[in-house]
Amino acid sequence: LTSSPSCPGLHVIHIAAEMAPVAKVGGLGDVVCGLSKALQKRGHLVEIVLPKYDCMQYDRIHDLRALDVVVESYFAGRLFKNKIWVGTVEGLPVYFIEPHHPDKLFWRGQLYGEHDDFKRFSFFSRAALELLLQSGKKPDIIHCHDWQTAFVAPLYWDLYAPKGLNSARICFTCHNFEYQGTAPASELGHCGLDVHQLNRPDRMQDNSAHDRVNPVKGGVVFSNIVTTVSPTYAQEVRTAEGGRGLHSTLNFHSKKFIGILNGIDTDIWNPGTDTFLKVQYTANDLQGKEENKEALRRHLGLFSAKVRKPMVGCITRLVPQKGVHLIRHAIYRTLELGGQFVLLGSSPVPHIQREFEGIANHFQNHDHIRLILKYDEALSHSIYAASDMFIIPSIFEPCGLTQMIAMRYGSIPIARKTGGLNDSVFDVDDDTIPLEFRNGFAFSTADEQGLNNALERAFNLYRNDPESWQKLVQKDMTVDFSWESSAAHYEELYAKSVARARATIRA
Ligand code: ADP
Repeated sequence: LTSSPSCPGLHVIHIAAEMAPVAKVGGLGDVVCGLSKALQKRGHLVEIVLPKYDCMQYDRIHDLRALDVVVESYFAGRLFKNKIWVGTVEGLPVYFIEPHHPDKLFWRGQLYGEHDDFKRFSFFSRAALELLLQSGKKPDIIHCHDWQTAFVAPLYWDLYAPKGLNSARICFTCHNFEYQGTAPASELGHCGLDVHQLNRPDRMQDNSAHDRVNPVKGGVVFSNIVTTVSPTYAQEVRTAEGGRGLHSTLNFHSKKFIGILNGIDTDIWNPGTDTFLKVQYTANDLQGKEENKEALRRHLGLFSAKVRKPMVGCITRLVPQKGVHLIRHAIYRTLELGGQFVLLGSSPVPHIQREFEGIANHFQNHDHIRLILKYDEALSHSIYAASDMFIIPSIFEPCGLTQMIAMRYGSIPIARKTGGLNDSVFDVDDDTIPLEFRNGFAFSTADEQGLNNALERAFNLYRNDPESWQKLVQKDMTVDFSWESSAAHYEELYAKSVARARATIRA
């Protein structure tokens, strides 16, 4: 195995199910990549361990090669061989684990949504720790993410620290408490964890079904640092309404639990250099933004008029969390208000996908509405650049990245005040917020009136005060949403935790 070069900073290893741009379903992938790059820039040694999926963007991995070793890992009473690959993604060293398992665990044509996800990812979590042990790595921090790799926390303390992989503190980040990965308690035993020890109320037992274990709860209980992706969401999940059954656990462990707002990768999301765009542009030269709007209209067959007509964008997974009924309402309301609407989204929920296919067909050749129901990275860049406004009417939103990307491209967010949206979108008309922070339109209640009010205020400003609108666009484009400050926050948490551990060993 390759040994890690020495580094003056901390040695951080992320174990995750996603990393942009090679294996991404949502925000988790962006965070693993963005945070890692920012930590590397700050002088830390950062490595990432991922499953080797069949459906990765292999063209984004540099120098991919198989290592000349086989790592054997335990699962369900047997040892399985794992082929280990290594490559560079966005300048970061990444290990890819390819299990030689008859069920072809990561050869499914998709990252998630398989009937045996619990088995696939508990297997992966154990194999990842086995890789670290056998390669003799001595990380300061092992950082795991979401339920898929939350198994790492109990596995580390129960099995791997006793085997000698004991240099690390464990950090667990939950990107969305909606997904907890619960399963019948007996399934936990397959990765070698002790079901009797762990299926207890103060450990991994699910808080509402006592014959089930909850990996996210295990991540919270067994990690030294627990984070989620915005300060407001960290508050919300500590309430009975927001915690999805885990509020009492989070309150009990509140001393180690904190919300840190995600950043965005400002190299990738930069209208000044973005090669997906028809024309690059900056806050000081907005002509290019107009040209992108025209280009998108042509590309999608939308009506192009010389009159100023706002384009409203929306790029999202179409799941209930995102407020799909309000997104649907916004399409019709935008039309009534005389704007254009472009939606890029796809749904893993069949009835939602069908409903939006119906709307898409209804507006198939419409002059002002276009729905594109698929995942399309390139088109997403064009829509951020072309749109004047961007709607995010989420019911809940752990952090949300689209509002930040939209602002960077000069598209003004119209967002519901929840989770990370509440920490990043500040209403232009809210006198309680200092003027310099106000950057969009926000509404509280998740209903049509709430959305209408914010949308209408946005249309009014766009139409009646073009000068103020332009100033707002320019201001939003220069807000700092880079990973810099968030990475500094993680760095501080890591360093404090490592220092505490060393102090305990010395005492
Ligand atoms: P979540 O992680 O809940 O899906 P986020 O706002 O945190 O939501 O992150 C969404 C990310 O996925 C953004 O980078 C957004 O541009 C991208 N995205 C969502 N849907 C699509 C799509 N249909 N096509 C391209 N990119 C998409």
